[in-house]
Amino acid sequence: PLDGPAALTARGLIRDFRGFRAVDQVDLTVAAGSVHALVGPNGAGKTTLFNLLTGFLAPTAGRIELDGHDITGLPPERVARLGVARSFQITSLFPQQTARTHVELALQSGTGLGWRFWRSHRLLERFSARAGELLDLVGLGDAGDTLAGSLAYGRKRALELAIALALDPKVLLLDEPTAGMGLEDVDRTVELIAAVRDGRTVVLVEHNMSVVGRLADAVTVLQAGRVLVEGPYEQVRTDPRVIEAYLGS
Ligand code: ADP
Repeated sequence: PLDGPAALTARGLIRDFRGFRAVDQVDLTVAAGSVHALVGPNGAGKTTLFNLLTGFLAPTAGRIELDGHDITGLPPERVARLGVARSFQITSLFPQQTARTHVELALQSGTGLGWRFWRSHRLLERFSARAGELLDLVGLGDAGDTLAGSLAYGRKRALELAIALALDPKVLLLDEPTAGMGLEDVDRTVELIAAVRDGRTVVLVEHNMSVVGRLADAVTVLQAGRVLVEGPYEQVRTDPRVIEAYLGS
C-alpha cells in the first residue's frame, strides 16, 4: 500500500511553544490504506504532531493535506468531519453511560444533526443496530449494556476504537493503543487493529516496537521534533541511526 496515493501529508510542519520548537520542519507522507507508525523517544514531538494532524493544535508554519486538500489550521470538528478520527482518551468516556450509548452518540455526532432531531424522528433504532455491529467488531458484543466505568482497561480502549470507527473515518489516528496493557491485551489489541484497518489508513503512535513490527507498513522515527528516519518497517528497524537513538535514550 506504500506506492499508492497519499491520504495524509505534512509539509514543513513547525510548532513552537513559547520559543521551544516541539515539531521542527516535519515532512510526512501517509500512503492511503497503509498503517503508518510514529515512533521516537519521549519528548520527540509525537503527541504534538498528532495534535497538529487532527486540528487540536494549529501549526506555527507548514501545511497539512487530506486527500490533496489543504486542511491546515481547520478546527478539530471540521477535520473530524472531513474524515480524520482520533481514538478518544479514556478520560473522555462517561463512566455512568453504557458502551452502546457512547457509540450511538458518536454515530449521531457524525451526521451533524443534533440529538433532538434524531429523537423526534425516531430513527434511533438505526443507530442502535449500527452501534451493535461496531461493538461486535471490537469484541464488545456482550458489553453493550455495561457502564463504561465498569469495563476493564483493555475493553475501555476497545470502546474508544468503536467510537472512532463510528465516524467511518478515512484516516484513523491511534494514540498509543497498547499503552499500559499486559501482554494478553496487547495481542488482542494488535489483532483488533489488524481486523478494523480494512483498507483504511491508520496512523499510530506506539512505543512497543513489536506492535509496530506486527502492524506498520511504514514508520517515521522522530527525534527532538525532527524526522530522523522514515521508511518501511524492516528498513527502519535496522537503521543504525534508529538503533543509536533508542539505545541512547
Ligand atoms: P512525545 O509525544 O514524543 O513524547 P510531545 O509532543 O509530547 O512528545 O512533546 C515534545 C516536546 O514539546 C516536549 O519537550 C514537550 O515538553 C514540549 N511540549 C509539548 N506540549 C507543550 C506545551 N503545551 N507547552 C510547552 N511545551 C510543550
